[in-house]
Amino acid sequence: MKKVMLSGIQPTGSLHIGNYLGAMKNWVAMTEEIFGYFCIVDYHAITINYEPKEMQKRILEAAIEYLASGLTDDKCAIFVQSHVRAHTELAWIFNSITPVAELERMTQYKDKSHKNESNINAALLTYPTLMAADILLYKPDFVPVGEDQTQHLELTRMIVRKFNNKFGEYFTEPEIAYSKVPKILGLDGVNKMSKSLNNHIPLRLSEAETEKLILKNAVTDTNRIRKTDAGNPNICNVFSWHKIFSSESTQQECFESCTNASIGCVDCKKILIKNLNDDLREVREKIISYEANKDYVYDILKSGAEKANKVAEKTLNEVKELMGIF
Ligand code: SF4
Repeated sequence: MKKVMLSGIQPTGSLHIGNYLGAMKNWVAMTEEIFGYFCIVDYHAITINYEPKEMQKRILEAAIEYLASGLTDDKCAIFVQSHVRAHTELAWIFNSITPVAELERMTQYKDKSHKNESNINAALLTYPTLMAADILLYKPDFVPVGEDQTQHLELTRMIVRKFNNKFGEYFTEPEIAYSKVPKILGLDGVNKMSKSLNNHIPLRLSEAETEKLILKNAVTDTNRIRKTDAGNPNICNVFSWHKIFSSESTQQECFESCTNASIGCVDCKKILIKNLNDDLREVREKIISYEANKDYVYDILKSGAEKANKVAEKTLNEVKELMGIF
């Protein structure tokens, strides 16, 4: 029996290279050994204001990016949350055992309520019970998450304990697996790369657009004012990206040339841009190819939903039986 993992992604627009390196690339490697449920969580995405006409496009974009990253239908199930009705049904059940006070203290609820004062809806509050259902339906051995999701995962573990106490031992508390990839900072060189902070490099940019963005916006060692000043690569975010995309010998050359002021930041960035574009070329080409073959992508989502439904329905039926509502 293969171990099982689960991860979800919101269809909120295309991914950036931080998502690709921190999540997707890892998952592709992990699915060699572990079966993955990769869920496009559209029901989570409707808890904030959104444009209905854009939603289908974004769901498809997320599916394409999963596939272009190298995930394949034979090693995982890529599916849309709303195509598996057991998610919302189990979430309702979990609502019945989750104290409101636990939901109200969630940091993400407070943040989102603060940002969306005109739309503080009930689903924003009960978001974590749906997330618990997303996870527990598939009884995963572990759930890879970013640190910002720790509180939700802890709530899921609490729901497991409450359910088991009330209705008998059934669920197992899922293990949290933090990404081992170092945090990738954004163009500002200060904050984690994030679309909401607008400091990101979208995966779907062309090579020319990537070059323009990095040359114009990527912050370097701010103490290096003139080209003749020696720089410090250890505090330069561009150099931290070299560590991801450039060979060790290139890193060494850039490091030395920076510290003895024999290279300017523009040339150093150009070396990085070439290596970054080389690294991402295959994924970007696959994105273009899947965009031209949407029927295939819809078939993958259909197949993923069939696989997910089979497991999710079984879990839901067993849960209902334990609760006396079958
Ligand atoms: Fe950073 Fe490169 Fe400029 Fe040095 S030369 S400060 S490593 S961009």
